[in-house]
Amino acid sequence: MIVSAAAHLHAPLDRRVLAARSPGGADTVVVAGGGPAGATTALLLARQGRRVILIEREAFPRPKPCGDCLSAAATGLLRELGLLDAVLEAGAARLSAWRVRSPSGHVCHGRFDGVSALALERRVLDAVLLDAAVRAGVTVVRGRVLDLAGAAVRFRDAEGHERVVGAGLVVGADGLRSVVARRADLVRRRPRLRKVSLTTHGAGPAGGLAHGEMHVLDGACIGLAPAGSGRFNLTLVVTHRHAGELASLGPVDFLDAWLDRALAVRDRLAGLSLDRPYLASGPFDWPSRSPVARRLALVGDAAGYYDPFTGQGIYQAMEGARLLAVALEGLSLDDEQALSAGLRRYSASLRRLKAPARRVQRLVEAALAGPRRADRVLRRLAAAPAAMDRLIEVTGDLRPAAALLSPRLLSSFLFPPASEVR
Ligand SMILES: Cc1cc2nc3c(=O)[nH]c(=O)nc-3n(C[C@H](O)[C@H](O)[C@H](O)COP(=O)(O)OP(=O)(O)OC[C@H]3O[C@@H](n4cnc5c(N)ncnc54)[C@H](O)[C@@H]3O)c2cc1C
Repeated sequence: MIVSAAAHLHAPLDRRVLAARSPGGADTVVVAGGGPAGATTALLLARQGRRVILIEREAFPRPKPCGDCLSAAATGLLRELGLLDAVLEAGAARLSAWRVRSPSGHVCHGRFDGVSALALERRVLDAVLLDAAVRAGVTVVRGRVLDLAGAAVRFRDAEGHERVVGAGLVVGADGLRSVVARRADLVRRRPRLRKVSLTTHGAGPAGGLAHGEMHVLDGACIGLAPAGSGRFNLTLVVTHRHAGELASLGPVDFLDAWLDRALAVRDRLAGLSLDRPYLASGPFDWPSRSPVARRLALVGDAAGYYDPFTGQGIYQAMEGARLLAVALEGLSLDDEQALSAGLRRYSASLRRLKAPARRVQRLVEAALAGPRRADRVLRRLAAAPAAMDRLIEVTGDLRPAAALLSPRLLSSFLFPPASEVR
């Protein structure tokens, strides 16, 4: 299955692709980027009968720095898109809960209500999604998008030649540092270096966990979770204060130094080897001014990103793609007015998806800022399991953010039985 997507990415450019007609003349969509946002957008637009060309700079399967855990809501979305079986067959692990450990060792558990979330290494997941797009009729071209020329895209192909492909609609799904967003002047400001991350994988007992773990430390967080097929994902995220230390120590010694401060993780990894090289990422904070412009839409991280802690990015990338497809359903790209109206509908529904999640991310970040506060909050959550379950369901996109505001829930968190707060 994965082989067919990889084969497409290595294939020489198809002349017919380059003959795509000029902007506005054709019902052609050019998608930049083949991660979850790009692959899902391309798949859904191809299913609408549109001609879709996807340009991806990497040969798949390719690694991607990520915690590899999908929001619980992604399970239902994958089912709705007809992709769940392929993701399970590719070896996805099932997660029924998250455990969060405070700096001084308080542990709280949050369970999903009757749903299991999935976890799968991104090199596998993304290849499965791109492969589904190829099978839906999407033409995948290996190349690096360089620039926009009106509604056409200039890119360098795998042989190093510069090409231009015309489109009725350009979709920027090229991730955090989106070239499309920058060239279309849709990035609100330069990113802030708030955090940086290192990700690695390995095989061993942690790959068999039925839950994910977050270890909150002073100035860092370590995530440990299964990544499918007996493998596990280990991701360290540190605040910008430690970025210099990462540069001077190098990734291997830097991660080692943090594992010495997280002995609960160190113990689990005893005797296991970690994949090299480690994957680094950051900065994460890329706000966008708007996810749409004339004949252009941004999807996934390209449309704005804040922070990886709550692990909602893959779901939001795929759900954003679905929202775009719904907004474009039945309209001709030749009809510029109808297209603009469709893009405005997409922009509004994407805001409804992202804004509440962003507020919860900021709330969680503020609650865990500093070891003393993180200890206090996590100790209370350990004594208020219903509040913790609800938080995990909200960050798993199973419930709206407003579900955190129920008076009963808030009081169970603010005034837990004294005997349970130790
Ligand atoms: C440390 C870390 C941990 C995370 N953990 C989680 C988690 O556990 N769960 C979760 O849901 N989310 C997590 N996220 C977020 C998640 O990884 C992203 O939100 C998700 O990958 C967004 O998908 P995307 O398709 O928008 O972008 P990407 O997955 O980044 O895909 C973009 C694609 O575009 C291609 N591309 C880029 N530039 C060009 C170009 N110029 N031309 C052509 N192609 C290009 C890239 O090669 C890539 O394939 C994490 C992020 C980080 C950094």
